[in-house]
Amino acid sequence: MPTPGPSPAGTARTLAPVTGTSLQFKTQPTGAAVSRALQAVTAVFAVVPLFALAALLDRPHVRSWPALGVTLGLGAVFVGSFASDRRRLRRARISAFVPTRAFAQAVLVIADFAAAGVAFGLHGGSFLLLPVIAFLLTALLGNATMMRRGWLVLVAALGVETALELPAYDALWATVLFAGTAGVLAVMVDGVVRGSIRGMERNRALAELATETSTLQDWPRDLLSVGERLARAIDVEGYAVLTRLGSRTPLQRSYAWPDPEWPAFEVLGDLAVVALERAGPVERGGLVATAAHAGTAGVVIVAPATSLLGAPVETTLLTSAAALLASMLTRSRLISGLLDMANTDELTGLANRRRLFETLLLEVNRARRSGRPLTIAMVDLDHFKRYNDTFGHSAGDDLLQHFALGTTSRMRAQDLVARYGGEEFCLVLPETDAEGGLALVEGLRSEGAGDDGLGRRVTFSAGLATWNGTESAEDLVYRADASLYRAKASGRDRVAVAPPS
Ligand code: GH3
Ligand code: MG
Ligand code: MG
Repeated sequence: MPTPGPSPAGTARTLAPVTGTSLQFKTQPTGAAVSRALQAVTAVFAVVPLFALAALLDRPHVRSWPALGVTLGLGAVFVGSFASDRRRLRRARISAFVPTRAFAQAVLVIADFAAAGVAFGLHGGSFLLLPVIAFLLTALLGNATMMRRGWLVLVAALGVETALELPAYDALWATVLFAGTAGVLAVMVDGVVRGSIRGMERNRALAELATETSTLQDWPRDLLSVGERLARAIDVEGYAVLTRLGSRTPLQRSYAWPDPEWPAFEVLGDLAVVALERAGPVERGGLVATAAHAGTAGVVIVAPATSLLGAPVETTLLTSAAALLASMLTRSRLISGLLDMANTDELTGLANRRRLFETLLLEVNRARRSGRPLTIAMVDLDHFKRYNDTFGHSAGDDLLQHFALGTTSRMRAQDLVARYGGEEFCLVLPETDAEGGLALVEGLRSEGAGDDGLGRRVTFSAGLATWNGTESAEDLVYRADASLYRAKASGRDRVAVAPPS
């Protein structure tokens, strides 16, 4: 057999290179190689029946009617099966390619050719079988040069086949033998190619996963969108993700796919903890766990120890996936930290002006939709400059912190206290009318928010405004500020309410 025929029993990785650079096999069948093989299969199947048809036209006298019946029957089965394959492959992805089917079709065509030989007293088609198989393997694993040579060999084989004119019945038995061999080869190649295709799919899933996780920033909610893709990448039917946020915090289940309860608590035991401590894969009781660290935090993936194909799960893949998730966790924590920083006043820990206006915008919109009232209060410490001058700037800072803490602790959950600037604060009171707002601020005053915590009396003035149903957040703040100004002007240590506008 002149075409280089690699042993299909070996995986593509162990193929020995053929001498000469133009005849190197690929180290791994790729998507392109598989689609080339498909095209080649199509071409071979187009050539073989054409050849049979030419022979048939050459000898129009039927020698055996049952053989003709078998010829037509096999031909019909082949055409039907091939057409359905083509349709399936046009629609489906490359994973729909089943080499065994392709080989079965090749065997079918050859058997058909042999039966036609018997029917018309022509030579069989057995000799054609080996070049066809070699050609298919070349298409699958070889390069363009090898493909061109494969075609040459195939055409030459057809020529020899025609010239030899073996007696029809001899050729039939030889064909049956070769067809059987082809079947065995087909099963072996099927295993190799399916494994390769699966590997390709898994690599693609891993690449997609890496792309996807590189943009995700909300842990663990964004894990939902990773779901099945992660399972495909690590080739398992399900998995669970556990996270430990700090070195002293417990390991917690963050996500599991497809069953949120998998694996049961008793089954899991301390497997994930051990994996995290060892920072590597641990296998026990049919489960495998592997961990990746993200600073003091850690991510553990737990999966069945057996992959979907029945082989042991590749722990390197599992560890890569854990590392991807760990980087996603780091990023989401970093971003939420930055967001917190951007929205928080450094000295008091209160919301800053930026967050105040974000919240106000939301609350104004909410009030518009619900028709419920919204009141805000601008609060300013009285004579704070004097306090600073008397007790020092650092004592002034302490007072601001003390005031922030005291005010926040007296607020309801839905309220917001923001530092507007200097010693001026803004209270946002949703679902509160002017009367309620006034009661709340008066409560603050009488309950001692105006005390500096060291027994020195500190007072504040406040201006209240209730949203008028149409104005912008800025206008609302402006009206509250105007009231504050009036409270100051009329002697401080009091609350002024903006008139309805
Ligand atoms: P009024 O009763 O009219 O509000 O008088 P006031 O002294 O409270 O107001 P004024 O605007 O004259 O002074 C505010 C002072 O607050 C001036 C400024 O140095 C001080 N201040 C602003 N931010 C800080 C801060 O972060 N820490 C401290 N310690 N002082 C601050
Ligand atoms: Mg002041
Ligand atoms: Mg002020």
